[in-house]
Amino acid sequence: MGGLLLFLLKAGSRNQLNNLRADGHFSAHYRQMFHMELPHQDVVFDVLCQLPPAELDQVKMDVMSPLFEQKWLRPFRLLNRYYTIAVDATGVVSFDHRHCPHCLTKKSKNGKITYFHYVLEAKLVTSNGLAFSLASEWIENPEGDFDKQDCERKAFTRLVAKLKKQYPRLPVCILADGLYPYEKAFKICEDYGWKFIFVLQDKSLKTVQEELTLTRRSQPAATYYTIDQGWRITKEYRYQTGIEYHKKYTLNWVQCIETRKKPPKPSKQTPSPQSLEKNSCFEYVTNIAPDRENVRAIGYAGRLRWKIENEGFNTQKCGDYELTHKWSQNSYTALQNCYSLLQIAHAINQLIEKGKLITEILKRRPKETIHNLWLRLKSYMIFCLPQISIHSPEKEDRIKPAPA
Ligand SMILES: [Zn+2]
Repeated sequence: MGGLLLFLLKAGSRNQLNNLRADGHFSAHYRQMFHMELPHQDVVFDVLCQLPPAELDQVKMDVMSPLFEQKWLRPFRLLNRYYTIAVDATGVVSFDHRHCPHCLTKKSKNGKITYFHYVLEAKLVTSNGLAFSLASEWIENPEGDFDKQDCERKAFTRLVAKLKKQYPRLPVCILADGLYPYEKAFKICEDYGWKFIFVLQDKSLKTVQEELTLTRRSQPAATYYTIDQGWRITKEYRYQTGIEYHKKYTLNWVQCIETRKKPPKPSKQTPSPQSLEKNSCFEYVTNIAPDRENVRAIGYAGRLRWKIENEGFNTQKCGDYELTHKWSQNSYTALQNCYSLLQIAHAINQLIEKGKLITEILKRRPKETIHNLWLRLKSYMIFCLPQISIHSPEKEDRIKPAPA
């Protein structure tokens, strides 16, 4: 709990939380809320250096499992069946010296070696911007001698095994970037009974690319028009089914060409401006059979992959969680444990931030920010006396007034 609070409160560093702990009524609030004492962060860190990372990793997965029992996640399923799980890797920390025996290394042109840690994530992503870490796998080198460094594809095999073990019957659709259209990933998804939507890049799957030459120039199978913040958006979908790959796998292809146009706004400086236009093309390979009715949903799910980068990694790096902070200068165990705690705290906070309590405040005060609300929470805990609950008088005497 002491470690989790670091991320729940977005304290920024262990030192900051120690300062809060010593300030005003903060510890009394903590005691009232959780019915326990808040330990000094040095003590918490000693535990995090010794606790095997698999323990907290499992706690994290056990915390996430009940999400699927709650019916409110159901409307976010693809084609009313599949939970969309994005897989991607992100850098956590880097050092200019060896941090632990498991560091990955990279040599730059001038011979300088960087030591770093990457983690591969499987996050449940939803259209309303939720990203929950369901499983994590560190990309790490073994201790002692080895031929080749660990890599994302090797970690993928370990990650999905973990995911399958935790959620054996969950209808899954894996969303991943251009690194993933390769034979082993197709086989894993087939063996596990999972669906996949992988980004297809120009140079990958040569034989598939050859089959698509004509279809790319064909009439779109479906076209949709929408308007968003003054932009007129046209989305053209094309698809092709039954593409054989290595005579073992049958793949399907989905393409979405998006054209965004903004009508010109004449002004004094530019009396006859040109309209703005942006074009983008997205292509995917999938084992879901597309048709005129579902091609839009498949294309939309393919683009949900971005949520792992935006709502997942970017929020954790820039949104006060300090994912890339050097939480441990020399213990890989503590680093991994801090990472698991951050994932648990982020999941809890997302549920709070999307809940009624916070969304109603944001509706009433459109210029309010989540960052500011958390600052206010911390200020409240320091400066305001804890309210004594009338329902549980036995707890009253546990609340001692803070020193002046
Ligand atoms: Zn290391």
